[in-house]
Amino acid sequence: MQTLTAECVLDAKAILGEGPVWRAETQDLVWVDIESARVCCFNPATGENQTWDVGEKPGLAVPTQRGDLILGTSVGFVRLDLASGVLSPIIDPEQDLPNNRFNDGKVDPEGRLWAGTMGMDESPNVGSLYRLNRNLSADKLFDQVSISNGLAWTGDQKSFYYIDSPTRRVDVFDCDMASGTVSTRRTAFKLPDGMGYPDGMCIDNEGMLWVALWQGWGVARFAPGGALLAKVEVPVECVTSCCFGGENWDELYITTSSRDLDEAGRAAQPLAGGVFRCKPGVSGPSTNLFLG
Ligand code: CA
Repeated sequence: MQTLTAECVLDAKAILGEGPVWRAETQDLVWVDIESARVCCFNPATGENQTWDVGEKPGLAVPTQRGDLILGTSVGFVRLDLASGVLSPIIDPEQDLPNNRFNDGKVDPEGRLWAGTMGMDESPNVGSLYRLNRNLSADKLFDQVSISNGLAWTGDQKSFYYIDSPTRRVDVFDCDMASGTVSTRRTAFKLPDGMGYPDGMCIDNEGMLWVALWQGWGVARFAPGGALLAKVEVPVECVTSCCFGGENWDELYITTSSRDLDEAGRAAQPLAGGVFRCKPGVSGPSTNLFLG
């Protein structure tokens, strides 16, 4: 197994840093601090990190072709205009579930947003995975989810990997990208003991999966069958998500949490809540923009 290291590129002191996504046009990283109800945009060239307070906890923020962001929050999908900071509601598929919020999500190659929910008290099986279509309607893909997290499609678009964190598994579905549907769920692999819980995830151009390790001090690279190929060591216990970015899509950006640390924990993990970066030696696919 290869061991890689990550450098802290932004000592953000986020409470629950999450949802990194690289924007090619502006060469910057959109990410969220869920617990601070804040959307952030970090420019590694200048070191600037712009923030927007959005009121409701955003589990995800994804860029659109028109240059704004779609957020998934506790009040459904919302559009954030970055120039004005104005928020506009889109649709809330869980209006009847006020104790749920959106968590992780990602735009598919057809420009639709797939995003899942969870109970804010982490009640089991109350969440679902949805697809926000380009016409801004939403469809439920499946339910019985506890903490909806990482998502990734294979390069041939025929398979969909998915993480419901408490299962400690990465599952795989057959995917029909034209219709945006999935079927035949099965376990791809379970995390080895001692690696914590799988959280956010991305796929590289060799078809290998990079899984953020909550309570696992890093990001692990797995083959689709579960062979552990590499680990990026991060000096923070709760690593939340990762994405490819940079000019050549060959940098891995990593978010982390400081939420559950007491004073001693904060002293031991001074960079908790920071954004990290690693050169993993492989590139990833470019970011899909939401086409609606
Ligand atoms: Ca997450």
